[in-house]
Amino acid sequence: MTTLSGLPDATLPPGFGYRHDQLMVEDVSLGQLASEHGTPLFVYSRAAMLGALAAYQRGLAGRQHLICYAMKANSSLAILQTLVRAGCGLDIVSGGELERALAAGVDPAKVIFSGVGKTRAEMRQALTVGIGCFNVESRAELDVLDEVARGMGRRAPVSVRVNPNVDAQTHPYISTGLKGNKFGIAHEDVIATYRHAATCEGLRVVGIDCHIGSQITQTGPYLDAMDRILDLVEGIEAAGVPIGHIDFGGGLGIDYQGDAPPEADALWKHLLQRLDARGFGDRKIYIEPGRSLVGNAGVCLTEVLYLKPGEHKNFLIVDAAMNDLPRPAMYQAFHRIVPLSPRTGLATTTWDVVGPVCESGDWIGRDRALAVQAGDLLAVMSAGAYCMSMASNYNTRGRAAEVLVDGETATLIRARETAADQFRSERPLPAA
Ligand SMILES: *Cc1c(COP(=O)(O)O)cnc(C)c1O
Repeated sequence: MTTLSGLPDATLPPGFGYRHDQLMVEDVSLGQLASEHGTPLFVYSRAAMLGALAAYQRGLAGRQHLICYAMKANSSLAILQTLVRAGCGLDIVSGGELERALAAGVDPAKVIFSGVGKTRAEMRQALTVGIGCFNVESRAELDVLDEVARGMGRRAPVSVRVNPNVDAQTHPYISTGLKGNKFGIAHEDVIATYRHAATCEGLRVVGIDCHIGSQITQTGPYLDAMDRILDLVEGIEAAGVPIGHIDFGGGLGIDYQGDAPPEADALWKHLLQRLDARGFGDRKIYIEPGRSLVGNAGVCLTEVLYLKPGEHKNFLIVDAAMNDLPRPAMYQAFHRIVPLSPRTGLATTTWDVVGPVCESGDWIGRDRALAVQAGDLLAVMSAGAYCMSMASNYNTRGRAAEVLVDGETATLIRARETAADQFRSERPLPAA
């Protein structure tokens, strides 16, 4: 894989690179896929996903463990199937995700259910299929789950999500393990919560969990969270409630723009040393990675519609928008943007790359140096996580198509959404 001369940030993630001045995913030309399927188009590398998973599998080799892919990162069925067939369980956050998970063929015993607002109906649905664990986030939820399970003559397997009050040092909107956010049960209330859970006839305590944030690029916060959780496990077990598995959540970051998160296997080498040193080396470990499994395995292809140079800003108007790629608008996130076939002999200009949606928040990249013409194709990199799964129909824009590449083989895994698809469930008024 060659790098692109003149662009200092053109180091591309595994699975992507230029060959004869064409951006490739594995052995397939992205330009070819764009002309075949149109744009905007999401394209994923199977090898990149399985490579990311393999780093966790290496890191946890020889330990009892379960890797539950946090499917909200990208819940397209073929993506789920790819990871499930490679051995993953799934971390779900809604009844809809449970249905997708089952449609993808997951063993329900490998499903864990996270989220602060599970409804009674979702609890019943999950109990009926026999999921592996409910990650409970409040005392009130624990009591409702107990009641629902008793009503069905079942015992719900539960883990309490602990808020370890550690700073993940990431964006405030994706930091979840500090006091003052809505997730988890406060550290000081955890032991009492477990004592209570152990007395509930509708509950069976199976584990403990935490999840401190997302796009974490340092090892320190994970070590801090681990220490806090292990302190709690000692306290809970001293109170007579055995803890089966310990779930350390997800949140490992990816390289969007020179970010340097630890590799999953290196991270787990450190964490397992700490686990062993504290005498918990034989415990069953659960993790819930999302972004780090799929984020850098996907790109979004888009066509340049118009160049709009201006006095203060130059705008590059492309056919992908905030409804396809919501992260910049939501978190001011950065996605690298590169041409599918770099041009020579064209001046490089600094552009704000924006979509057609009627919002000033509809931008995809700011101040990007690109040499492009109308009709050129661009790849928005690192678009495998929290893009398609967050896509909307705002402006009655159909959601993009998706393609999964494996070596030389490209498979359409989602057809482009039509306008008719979008209003199928609406009920127009009778003819006037
Ligand atoms: C979103 C989420 C994850 C996954 O986070 P990533 O940053 O994508 O790895 C894991 N666990 C829970 C409870 C989550 O809400």
